[in-house]
Amino acid sequence: MTCPVCGRELSRDEIAVYRRLVFREADDCLCKTCFAARLRVPEEEIDRKIAHFKSIGCTLFTK
Ligand SMILES: [Zn+2]
Repeated sequence: MTCPVCGRELSRDEIAVYRRLVFREADDCLCKTCFAARLRVPEEEIDRKIAHFKSIGCTLFTK
C-alpha cells in the first residue's frame, strides 16, 4: 500500500496507526508524515502513538 498524498510505500506501523486513529477498515492510509500534517501535529507525535498502541497490545499492530 502507498500513501495517496506523496506516493511513498507505507510501513505496517503507519497503516496500523492510521486505522487505529481514523477508521479501522480504511483502505487509503496516509504515511505518518502526511498524517501528521493533516492532524497538525509533529511527526514525532505519530511515533509516540505507534509506541503507545504497541505497548497496550493493540491487535492492529501485532498481526
Ligand atoms: Zn505521504
